[in-house]
Amino acid sequence: MIKVCKFGGTSMASGMTMLRIKEILDADIARRYVVVSAPGKRFSTDAKVTDLLLESYRSLVETGLCGAAFGKVRERFLGIVCELGIDFDMTALLDETQREIEREHSEEFTASRGEYLAARLTAAYLKAPFVDARDVIRFDAEGKLQAAKSYLLLADVLRGNKRAVIAGFYGADEAGRVHTFSRGGSDITGAIVARAVGADLYENWTDVSGFMVCDPRIVENPARIRTLSYKELRELSYMGAGVLHSESIFPVREADIPIRIKNTFRPDDPGTDILPTSKCRFGDQVITGIAGKKNFTVIFVEKSLMNLEIGFVRKILSVFERHHISIEHIPTGIDTVSFVIDSTQLHRGEMNEMLREIGEAVRPDHMHTFSDVAVIAIVGHGMSRNIGTSARLFGAIARAGVNVRMIDQGSSELNIIVGVDNENYERTLRAVYDEFFRY
Ligand code: ASP
Repeated sequence: MIKVCKFGGTSMASGMTMLRIKEILDADIARRYVVVSAPGKRFSTDAKVTDLLLESYRSLVETGLCGAAFGKVRERFLGIVCELGIDFDMTALLDETQREIEREHSEEFTASRGEYLAARLTAAYLKAPFVDARDVIRFDAEGKLQAAKSYLLLADVLRGNKRAVIAGFYGADEAGRVHTFSRGGSDITGAIVARAVGADLYENWTDVSGFMVCDPRIVENPARIRTLSYKELRELSYMGAGVLHSESIFPVREADIPIRIKNTFRPDDPGTDILPTSKCRFGDQVITGIAGKKNFTVIFVEKSLMNLEIGFVRKILSVFERHHISIEHIPTGIDTVSFVIDSTQLHRGEMNEMLREIGEAVRPDHMHTFSDVAVIAIVGHGMSRNIGTSARLFGAIARAGVNVRMIDQGSSELNIIVGVDNENYERTLRAVYDEFFRY
């Protein structure tokens, strides 16, 4: 039995939390391969080491020196070594890292050093070999992960090691240039390691006891989700459920390796299991989770007999492509089509420019945009088996006095997406939660 354990930033935040990591690992010999994040926050106003490193990089660009922010990184790591009481020359490693940051002059390299230092320190603490992700996680020159290559490199290095500590979040291209995943990317590293060693389980240790049905900052004391399918997870995490990076399922899904979300601070809590759909037990549950995000813009285009015009949608999409805008949803009618985009992608004035280009490309009868839209996804395989789910959903939203601006149902009947005004976001989430979970 092999388990890969990834520990997140809060689990790595201090010597005290690292003691818990050791207890967790010692409690189960199957927990062999350990992936670590950089130290995160110890309390709500604390800084994450990765943010301090990014600040160091900005200072390096502006002043030629890593500055005060790197001083804080030093303090964090020296504090952890001191709390753990281990014999490890952290000062020498920090000095060398600072010199490398100054020499490499790269944002991604600088950001990656939190995981590098954390993994070096954890390996010394656990008396286990350290594996530098630079040697085993491979990206191409464009920064795209080369998964198959990485599995081979990892399997090769880890074979024969009873235990090893691997730095999360980064890797390198063939030329040795360091690349990072997007923020929270150590989750992806953990999944890649699990796939490479053919793990029986990928345990992702964090500071919550798994996924909740809904954001607990909005819905009071929501129910926990015991099992989720990979597909449901992807929908929920993409739509803002922040427990796990939305790309982490891809490596493990191919090999049916389950992911278990566990709480470092309550290790006996069962957590949430993420499994292939065929292995999930849904019971009579209609929906599994609700997630959402604010601040979308909808572009609505209308043209009579649009359906007969071959290439209509493609012409519009090529306008977005030229502007490097990615589309979240495309609800369509017979003579209408809407494009939902994340407003943070738009530069000032870009919308007018795009509307002009769309106008030229397809000569619509009418076009308008509305912004400040929140998008809410109601996710669950149970929807396809339960007639009347959408009636209950829209009934609940109507009773809450909220106007629905947009509806999109994924073709797999796994989700229903509704768009509402930003100001109605919280109210809608509560109404939907109450309808399906508070009987
Ligand atoms: N340390 C990185 C971040 O803060 C990656 C991670 O923790 O997964 O995003």
